[in-house]
Amino acid sequence: MLKQILGIIGGGQLGMMLTEAAKKMPEHISDVIVLDPTPNCSASQVGAKQIVGDFKDKNAILELASKADILTYEIESGDSSVLKIAESKTTINPSPETLRIIQDKFLQKSFLKDNGIAVTDFVEITSLDDLRKKILDFGYPALLKARRDAYDGRGNFKIKSESDLEQALNYFSGKLLMLERFVDFKMEVSVIAARNTKGQIVTYPVVENIHENNILKMTIAPARVTKNVASEAEKIAKKTMQVLHGAGVFGIEMFVTRQDHILINEIAPRVHNSGHHTLQSSKTSQFEQHLRAIIGLELGDPTLIHPTIMYNILGPDNFQGKYKMPEIKLDNLHIKMYGKEESKPQRKLGHFNLVDEKGTEGIDGLLESINLVKDRISPIPA
Ligand code: AMP
Repeated sequence: MLKQILGIIGGGQLGMMLTEAAKKMPEHISDVIVLDPTPNCSASQVGAKQIVGDFKDKNAILELASKADILTYEIESGDSSVLKIAESKTTINPSPETLRIIQDKFLQKSFLKDNGIAVTDFVEITSLDDLRKKILDFGYPALLKARRDAYDGRGNFKIKSESDLEQALNYFSGKLLMLERFVDFKMEVSVIAARNTKGQIVTYPVVENIHENNILKMTIAPARVTKNVASEAEKIAKKTMQVLHGAGVFGIEMFVTRQDHILINEIAPRVHNSGHHTLQSSKTSQFEQHLRAIIGLELGDPTLIHPTIMYNILGPDNFQGKYKMPEIKLDNLHIKMYGKEESKPQRKLGHFNLVDEKGTEGIDGLLESINLVKDRISPIPA
């Protein structure tokens, strides 16, 4: 097979870890070029060439497409209509049509529902009157969500009572909206799934995600669920991959309800924060898997070899600016920093994986160790 030039829209931490995986596949990928607005972005620090430009800049996207043999993305906010134009210049995966559906939460949930995949009840909202009427079906609390460009919970407003309605609508000032029935879940889980250009599908074991302030704090691999729930989650992920077009790794976030039903919350058409544990825990990392999928290689083995907990290193709330990391070394601790110069509150600066390499600790042991080290692995002002 010919060596190919890989283009990635986005050069943050996901682009960085994709670039590192690409560098380990020199027989397939000769070069990586990323499009990112921040000069010296994370991916460029590990050897990617960079076009400095906005993710939605049509000319910059077309320039990247003309230079790359295969194009992918690490963010889902790209302009799918521009990508459709760029498809005449290069191969893009996941497909721009899949991106178009996924990047609008209302279209995404409609697509899943039409394909017989369970999601919570949802409805489009067009005005305050419309909201007043439709919320009666769902009751309180309910979640008003921006349909597009909403990450880390910033696009959600929990409506607790009738008196919140006006404030909720104003919060979104003119954005396209949808309303969701509130799910009283007992756990949030996700499945990393891959589909290659030839239609082969693999899923990683389901993991458990713990959020704080709407941002992923910790991923526990494997999830502490029954065998039935685990196999059901993986079955739903496989079915989702069968109906979505295009190749690549997808992060499929789900709720496990108190009755052990599984509902998909949302799909990310890209490598996913809850898959970072695979760098040390699994036979094939999600980053290598994504590249294998879009190049059309046989997919790697997704087996989880070691129970692992991934913990996000977020910018502390008490300062902003240049930072350093304290020195800390443990045999089973793998710290990955993303090369971001400045800390900001809640900014994802890195993550660490704590790995049960000897098979002696189990998830409970890892959780105890996390409690001992997590505060010591936190950025401090430089
Ligand atoms: P989202 O940005 O839509 O993924 O939502 C961010 C977080 O909000 C999720 O990880 C859940 O913790 C919570 N959430 C989203 N949708 C619902 C829902 N329908 N019911 C309850 N919690 C939700």
